[in-house]
Amino acid sequence: MKSLKDQFILNNGVGIPCIGFGTWQTHAGRVAVVSVLEALETGYRHIDTAAAYDNEESIGEAISKSGINRKNIFVTSKLWNSNRGYDTTLRAFDESLRKLGLDYLDLYLIHWPATKDDWRNQNNDTWRAFEKLYNEKRIRSIGVSNFKPHHLKPLMEKAEIMPAVNQIEFHPGLMQTETVEFCKKNNILIEAWSPLGSGRILNNPDLIKIAEKYNKSVAQLCIKWCLQNNVLPLPKSITIERIHENAKVFDFIISSQDMDRINMMPHIGSSGLDPDKINF
Ligand code: NDP
Repeated sequence: MKSLKDQFILNNGVGIPCIGFGTWQTHAGRVAVVSVLEALETGYRHIDTAAAYDNEESIGEAISKSGINRKNIFVTSKLWNSNRGYDTTLRAFDESLRKLGLDYLDLYLIHWPATKDDWRNQNNDTWRAFEKLYNEKRIRSIGVSNFKPHHLKPLMEKAEIMPAVNQIEFHPGLMQTETVEFCKKNNILIEAWSPLGSGRILNNPDLIKIAEKYNKSVAQLCIKWCLQNNVLPLPKSITIERIHENAKVFDFIISSQDMDRINMMPHIGSSGLDPDKINF
C-alpha cells in the first residue's frame, strides 16, 4: 500500500481503501463534521461509523460538504444489537441510510454476534436481511464484527453470500490469532478496531523504542504494523494534527525483525470486551 487511496480487494471484488477513519466516540455535530471533513481533505476515502455511534447524520453532512464524488468514498455502518432479526434489520438499515443521507452503503456489518438463547437463528435471520439488501444492490459488501470462529461457522453454513469483512479489536498486544487465521483461510478481510488500543498502548516503552528507529510516532507504527499484517486499520482522531499524522505511514517499512518483536508482545491494551461476555 502506497497511499490512502490504495485498496484491499474484498472476496466479492469490491475495493476498500486501506485505512478507514474511525468515528466511535466522535460527538455528533460540529466535532464529527469538522473531523470527517478534515479526514476527507487529507485524503482518507473510507469512513467507519455505526448506528450506535449516534453520529451518522453528521458524517453524512461532512460527506456532502466535502464535494467529493460519492463513488470515491467508502462508507461503512453497523447494525446495532437491539435490531437483530430479519424485519428489524431491514428497518434499521433504512434508518442508517436516511441519517447518512445516502442511497447505498459500501459495507454493512453486524456490530456484535448474538450469543445467547437462540443466537444461531438470530444471526442467520439478520444475515438473510443483509443478503437481501446486498442482492438489491443497496449495499456493496456485507460483513460482521466481533465474530469469533464459533460464531462465524454456523452463519457461513447457512449463508448464500460469505461475509467479506470481520472487524475485530486488533493492535500490538492483542492479535486474536485464531480468529485472524480462520478469516484469512476463508478470504474474509480483517479490519482492526482500536488499532491504537484506544490510546492505551501509545506510551508503551517497547513500542516507543521501535517507533523512534523509524522517526515515527507509536500511532504511525501501529497503523503500519496492521497494514504489514494485511489487516485494515481504522484509526480514530478528532485532532487535526493527529488526523494528518495517522495518514503519514507510507514512507517507511517496518523490518521483519521488528514485525516479529511487535507480533510477540505480551497481552496489553485490551478493551476487555469479549463478544461471549458482553451485556449490551
Ligand atoms: P483508536 O485505537 O483509533 O484510538 C483513538 C484514540 O487515540 C483517541 O483517544 C484519539 O484521540 C487518540 N489518537 C489518535 N491518533 C493519535 C495520535 N497520532 N497520537 C496520539 N493519540 C492519538 O481507537 P478507537 O477505539 O476509536 O477505534 C478506532 C475505530 O474502530 C473506532 O473509532 C470505530 O470506528 C471502530 N471501532 C469498532 C468497534 C466495533 O465493535 N466494531 C469497537 C471500537 C471501535 P483524539 O480523538 O482525541 O485525537
